[in-house]
Amino acid sequence: MGKEDDRGEEYLFKIVLIGDSAVGKSNLLSRFSRDEFDTNSKATIGVEFQTQLVEIEGKEVKAQIWDTAGQERFRAVTSAYYRGAFGALIVYDITRSDTFESVKRWLQELNIGNKCDLEDIRAVSVEEGKALAEEEGLFFMETSALDATNVDKAFEIVIREIFNNVS
Ligand code: GDP
Ligand code: MG
Repeated sequence: MGKEDDRGEEYLFKIVLIGDSAVGKSNLLSRFSRDEFDTNSKATIGVEFQTQLVEIEGKEVKAQIWDTAGQERFRAVTSAYYRGAFGALIVYDITRSDTFESVKRWLQELNIGNKCDLEDIRAVSVEEGKALAEEEGLFFMETSALDATNVDKAFEIVIREIFNNVS
């Protein structure tokens, strides 16, 4: 499927985006994969995942990033969605405490606080985010799909972490 490197190795990592509805998962992915942001919240239709090429330590890594089709609204994310995943980004909205409280319910690898451009209506402090991540042994980062803060970095951290674990 993918291009192999000189040692015949191939890196294809499935990564899933999870978190409550409307936290900005689809926009993080569109920012990362196409550098696009959409102000209209609409349920993700069509494509199940986007494949993004990332170079890590001279190796070509294919990150296959899966987005939900809105089923998280009904807490109906199936095991098929997670199957074969190497990593996950758990996203919450820093302006909605309930989405932060839900983080514990989502399976965890990574923990991303999105919409950090909305500092004036923040409801979850950076300290709370960091504390939860530490408690659960996760990475923590705040991002903004709107102004692109830390978006590439968040995806790169999870991809790099997987790479380090498999190579
Ligand atoms: P999803 O349901 O988790 O996929 O969330 P969406 O990506 O559909 O985003 C939900 C809403 O939040 C949309 O109206 C987006 O425009 C908005 N949104 C997403 N990311 C950000 C962000 O980083 N900052 C701000 N201010 N709004 C965002
Ligand atoms: Mg979505």
